[in-house]
Amino acid sequence: MPIREPIVLKEDIKQLKRETDTAVFAHNYMDPDIVEIADVCGDGFDLAMAAANAPQKNILICGVRYIAETAAVMAPDKNIRLSHSQAGCPMTGRVSAARVEMFREQNPDVCIVVSINSSLQIKANADICVTPTNAVSVIRALSRDKILFLPDGSLGEYIAKMVPEKQIEVWPGGCPVLRSVERSDIELARRKWPNVPVAVSSRCRSEVTELADMIGSTNEIISFCEDSAHEVIICDEMAIHARMNEKYPEKFFKQLAPSKLICNSMRLTTLEIVERALKQEAGEQILVPFDLADAAREPIDAMIKLMSVKKRKRT
Ligand code: SF4
Repeated sequence: MPIREPIVLKEDIKQLKRETDTAVFAHNYMDPDIVEIADVCGDGFDLAMAAANAPQKNILICGVRYIAETAAVMAPDKNIRLSHSQAGCPMTGRVSAARVEMFREQNPDVCIVVSINSSLQIKANADICVTPTNAVSVIRALSRDKILFLPDGSLGEYIAKMVPEKQIEVWPGGCPVLRSVERSDIELARRKWPNVPVAVSSRCRSEVTELADMIGSTNEIISFCEDSAHEVIICDEMAIHARMNEKYPEKFFKQLAPSKLICNSMRLTTLEIVERALKQEAGEQILVPFDLADAAREPIDAMIKLMSVKKRKRT
């Protein structure tokens, strides 16, 4: 097939979406080109809820495996396809369900809290899920004080700092991409762009977050950039900087540590891959055994319930 211009490829993809009655959902870390042809863009939880509420029967998730699996759990009546079958996450593979089960047996009084960025097997062993955006408020609202947080150790450290009234044990490790940023990267950026605020992902190491002007989830960093008058140094996966730059060319966004903040798994999904996945020539249909789906849905439902109780109390 002759090489097509991106604008032509995007039109072909939109046509295929209509023909196959498929909605395309893009994770925040997708390239701006993918976000442009997507029906929804957001974090893993946003996409799972959007899948559950979508009018389309077929959903193509552009992201990594745990995001597509979470969508499949929350939208069991939909056909969920992952854009690239090799798009895994090195962080989620580092924790085995057997170790979590063993921890529970040895510590029955500890509440096991998992990030939505985790495998279904880990979710199935948890009491409650959190997203990077709601983690602090959900954990503050828990009735139990002893907590194990996993699998994102860096996010866990940030939560432990923000919720000192709870005893929070943190599983070591985290996102290798965000954890690759060091203190010296922030110091370098500050020297290069003095007086420009630095927005740092709460999933970075504590030595990095403690030097930030703003700390938050990716959704919160996006809002911070949108609300800012003009200048922000972004310390999150490179796609956020690319998207913000494209959306707000009049503002001054800078990427911190550009050679480090690249998730190779997220980069596997290209426009060509999206087109092939819509034709069922690429990607993978996500099938989750019923019992695993039921067990993994419980901690997500527990989070939704707690969030709605908090919301009702506020109104
Ligand atoms: Fe995994 Fe980090 Fe890549 Fe997200 S950015 S998929 S947590 S390695």
